[in-house]
Amino acid sequence: MGRTRVLRNTLSLCLHWRAKCDRIRNVDEKLIIIGTGPAGYTAAIYAARADLKPLVFTGSQIGGQLTTTTEVENFPGFPEGINGPDLMFNMSQQAEKFGARFVFEDVLSITREECSGKFIVTSSAGAYKAASVIICTGAAARYLGLEGERELIGHGLTACATCDGSFYRDVPVCVVGGGDSACEEALFLTRFASKVYLLHRRDTLRASAVMQQRVLHHEKIQPVWNSTIAAYRKDDTGELCGVQLRDTMTGELSELPLKCVFMAIGHVPNSKIAGNLVDVDDAGFITCTDGGVKTKTEGLFAAGDVADPVYRQAISAAGMGCRAALEAERYLTNFS
Ligand code: NAP
Repeated sequence: MGRTRVLRNTLSLCLHWRAKCDRIRNVDEKLIIIGTGPAGYTAAIYAARADLKPLVFTGSQIGGQLTTTTEVENFPGFPEGINGPDLMFNMSQQAEKFGARFVFEDVLSITREECSGKFIVTSSAGAYKAASVIICTGAAARYLGLEGERELIGHGLTACATCDGSFYRDVPVCVVGGGDSACEEALFLTRFASKVYLLHRRDTLRASAVMQQRVLHHEKIQPVWNSTIAAYRKDDTGELCGVQLRDTMTGELSELPLKCVFMAIGHVPNSKIAGNLVDVDDAGFITCTDGGVKTKTEGLFAAGDVADPVYRQAISAAGMGCRAALEAERYLTNFS
């Protein structure tokens, strides 16, 4: 599946929900769900079936990270696999069928009214009040933070091999990182690129043994140990054409010509909107009081990648979304 298909599916999701947005404003809600990855949609399905009529904020990336993937082969129930955007579209329709309502807005903050115990969810378009909130805002790809980096995204710099890999046929590319994601991306890119440099800041990979084996024995993949990117090089048209490398042991600089950099150095959880209503770990992932989905604030729950530094799978996020909805339902039963 190419970028066109991903864009078309994402656009159809946008139009679908945009048409409904104007009908919903400033209502006192029972439950607000923030985010529309597998956790958000699953929470919406369960909450809607429990007649909580959840209001779901889609955010600007409707469907979450899975809308940028191609084939999902490990989500149970699809023996032939299913592409990410289709899976997310199916989930959204399932949630809507049971009465979930969707708002095409980004949430900026969540606060709590002392007197009523209700939450105020402030979005780009207004404020909404709810007795309970589930945060399913996921995580965003981490970049290096180098000068001119943002402008290069989509012009030879990306964090999604499955979205963009096929645009770089028979040219050299590199993947940055030494974890399972970096190895997975590098292996995927061997289908298209003439050569895949695996750029890692140390001389041993963090990835699982099986992934290391596959990567280190692949003829098209060349590890570049103890190296980081010091600067990006771009051509006259603004497209990336190489990188300046820095040896992390010696500090020595060198040039590496290539056509695309695929960043795979982890993710940053989107947890800031909750402020001090939640506790977070060193990396920013929301920590839950019971090792589950309850945050330190009663009535505020978290599910999916924003609260999961370990598994980060579509199915584990969906499971957390289910648990969060069931906990919210219990909480609302006793809420007066
Ligand atoms: P990760 O395991 O945290 O690896 C991130 C990699 O990026 C590390 O090698 C790290 O280097 C490097 N890195 C971090 N910041 C950097 C920086 N500023 N500059 C240069 N390099 C930097 O993240 P991940 O690979 O996304 O995996 C996350 C979780 O998902 C893991 O639990 C993983 O097992 C799982 N996962 C599983 C699969 C699978 O089973 N198929 C696939 C993907 C992910 P250091 O090693 O030096 O810290």
